[in-house]
Amino acid sequence: MIIFKSAKELSFYLQNAKTHSLTIGFVPTMGALHEGHLSLIRQSKKHTQLTVGSIFINPTQFNNQDDFKKYPVAIEKDIEQLIESGCDVLFLPPVQEIYPEGYGPPYYELGDLETILEGAYRPGHFQGVCQVMDRLLQIVTPDHLFMGQKDFQQCMVITKLLSLQAQLNTIQLHIEPTRREADGVAMSSRNLRLTPCQRNAAIAISKSLFFIKENFKTMPVDVLKKEAFIQLKNAGFVTDYVAICNMQTLMPVANADQPAVALIAATIGNVRLIDNLLLD
Ligand code: AMP
Repeated sequence: MIIFKSAKELSFYLQNAKTHSLTIGFVPTMGALHEGHLSLIRQSKKHTQLTVGSIFINPTQFNNQDDFKKYPVAIEKDIEQLIESGCDVLFLPPVQEIYPEGYGPPYYELGDLETILEGAYRPGHFQGVCQVMDRLLQIVTPDHLFMGQKDFQQCMVITKLLSLQAQLNTIQLHIEPTRREADGVAMSSRNLRLTPCQRNAAIAISKSLFFIKENFKTMPVDVLKKEAFIQLKNAGFVTDYVAICNMQTLMPVANADQPAVALIAATIGNVRLIDNLLLD
């Protein structure tokens, strides 16, 4: 695996690969890698001839500075795992390679996506996500982009970003299923920040989602949401939202007459976790 820290050098390398007709797959991450990330690398390897992973903890997407400072870092182990999974290239840029002096962030017109659910609780988050993804995609110019359904709303934001930017709209986005631990907890870098007790309590998130899925056709939406809130509270969580939404629009649904997704964001200690589950 070749490691690049310079955007220019990476671009040069990848342009050369393109002249040899290699298709490029890209897996952007913030590091502290787990099986969820590695499954994206494997999918990229399956679909493309050259897989580029990136590790960059993007400061502009953190609305909470404490969360940014405490974001887990495990670079040596990450590199080992990427090599093992067969990743070809790692882009490991310092901040100034992504946001050079004079960089002025554009405004991305995301519509409702920007202000609902994660957008409501993390003001500015999705503008930050678009900033970093726009920059990374201009540097890597992949044919295929691999992201996780774990960040459901983020996938919708990226779909929008690809359609907004003329240079990006040939990129094919692949949304891969959420990888879970044996007890159902969605894999997440932030799980590393949980105490053993909190990690055990975290089961309540996926349990609530599976409870909603099992009962979606037979119980009213309000009752399902209330029940999930109670389950989360009993486990020690402070819940931002339990939402049951249309899969395409993320607008709340009133009943089970359309393809829907249940989404949860909740905090235990000072660790905020998100998860979601398709209900069909
Ligand atoms: P992150 O490093 O958390 O920014 O995530 C990088 C990519 O990995 C994003 O596309 C995430 O949606 C994806 N990802 C994170 N957790 C999981 C998971 N448990 N299963 C599948 N993909 C994941």
